[in-house]
Amino acid sequence: MLVVMKAQATPEEIEAVCAYIEKLGFRAHPLPGAQRTAIGITGNQGEVDRGNLEELSGVAEVIRVSKAYKLASRDVKEEDTIIKFPGTDATIGGRDLAIVAGPCSIESREQAFAIAEQVAASGAQFFRGGAYKPRTSPYAFQGMGLEGLKIMAEIREHTGMRIVTEALDSESLELVAEWADVIQIGARNMQNFSLLRQAGKLRKPVLLKRGLSATLEEFLMSAEYVMSEGNYEVILCERGVRTFSDHARNTLDLSIIPAIQRLSHLPIVVDPSHGTGRRDSVLPMARAAVAAGADGILVEVHHQPEKALSDGPQSIYPAQFARMMDEAGQIAPIVGRHLPRGIHVAAATA
Ligand code: PEP
Ligand code: MN
Repeated sequence: MLVVMKAQATPEEIEAVCAYIEKLGFRAHPLPGAQRTAIGITGNQGEVDRGNLEELSGVAEVIRVSKAYKLASRDVKEEDTIIKFPGTDATIGGRDLAIVAGPCSIESREQAFAIAEQVAASGAQFFRGGAYKPRTSPYAFQGMGLEGLKIMAEIREHTGMRIVTEALDSESLELVAEWADVIQIGARNMQNFSLLRQAGKLRKPVLLKRGLSATLEEFLMSAEYVMSEGNYEVILCERGVRTFSDHARNTLDLSIIPAIQRLSHLPIVVDPSHGTGRRDSVLPMARAAVAAGADGILVEVHHQPEKALSDGPQSIYPAQFARMMDEAGQIAPIVGRHLPRGIHVAAATA
């Protein structure tokens, strides 16, 4: 159920409707739009009695949302969600493309800084790097943990780039939320519902990767888990799915971009690194992703990929990343987008 407020509804009227919904034992999710505020109602198993709601001051109408995902749906919020990063000009989901670049794993301070400096010089606004790694083998490098998070915080300080890194479980979630700007939830955790709920209780953007065999509906339902707890800043990430194709690690499903954009207001970025698993396929698929309307690219970059402790074969060289930025910058205006170069951070006020 969705309560659509009148365009001229006051904050007090919106608050009163939310309080009424909560008093009925449901959860109210006020989602301000450009024209009017809509209030999503969750927590109801069946129908909510709409009778009284329609009587409340400032209410325009009460409508049923038939889709299983509600808060993620365009029915509830028509305009695209734009995620902002306070104190900077970086956004995810607006006209500007968001580029997230960095190594698969943080391996050392030297490695992380070497890569960070080069991707920052090419204009990346976001730096990625895993401190907690979901590895297929328990004997493979598992990440530097807290030390890795601290290195990334130093990189933010030094370059201005905002930090995107993965939380593997509730323990790492708390630390990642404390140190990073965006919490990544990996493909293998896309349906870890308790982790999604916990991330939903935080007030930090969540970058949710599509599961290895997740359908579009399952993907949006996972976003819904996060949003149902009150965290509406979810970024979807297409990173390839398992198919019979054996020429690449995964099959990058770019056709999910328009499908998601039709159904949901959430931003969607594309990861051509995990999506293909091959360095030589990353640039072509990054170009295709921008052309298809993605809101950004998440890409693995390593200055010495042959020495990388994880995902070396799919990591591009910094010079290739520079080229990717040039190409994305040229394609962007054709599809009505813009590629910002570099991040501007407001000077700290004393
Ligand atoms: C990663 O981004 O390094 C990663 C492990 O991604 P995914 O969860 O998509 O495999
Ligand atoms: Mn990786």
